Amino acid sequence: MTNEKQSLQNNNNAVTGSAIKKRNHKVQLVTEAMARPENKKVPVNSVPIDKTLANVGFQKPKRKVTQCFIHCSADSNPKNDDVSVMARWHLQRGFTEVGYHYFIKKDGTLQEGRNIEETPAAQNEFKTINGIKIGGNTNTIAICLHGGGGNPPINDFTQEQYKTLKNLCKSINEAYNSKITFHGHCEVSSKACPVFDYKTVLKLDKNGKLGI
Ligand SMILES: [Zn+2]
Repeated sequence: MTNEKQSLQNNNNAVTGSAIKKRNHKVQLVTEAMARPENKKVPVNSVPIDKTLANVGFQKPKRKVTQCFIHCSADSNPKNDDVSVMARWHLQRGFTEVGYHYFIKKDGTLQEGRNIEETPAAQNEFKTINGIKIGGNTNTIAICLHGGGGNPPINDFTQEQYKTLKNLCKSINEAYNSKITFHGHCEVSSKACPVFDYKTVLKLDKNGKLGI
């Protein structure tokens, strides 16, 4: 565990439940259970997901989006497998709320983080390749999978996570008529993030177009 992460975790102890509530962070568990009639009440920001179909029901935000970035939590502790933990860590780093729009748990559950209408705080870094800016937070969607902890980081992601990631990315890609590209954080950063071979999982071409 890095010193940075240890200090983040130590600081987490100082964050009270009321502090989390005060910033009105909505943690929405999105599971198959939501399809059941008794769970019909769907909050505005929720993203219904049917893990058996390639339809997550993603709705385009009003803001411009051209790229989608894949991240990992860089942590493999099962206790931290939840978007609310990411939210606490990000608050400690001075963010106003969790930086990612989506969080995918080890069991494949998709959780909502930052409102999709808002710019993420996920990959500040950017590169310009053939005149095209890759990265930066503006005009992006940010997805985080739990895992990739350790030093060196381990690839401990699950098939369930990949399935949810693929469904989500397909749904996003359809919403943008394939005019969106998908990237890993490591493309613009020296970090190993997201640790797993996302290009193969999503069958990306050299420009980041989705091939699934
Ligand atoms: Zn990252």
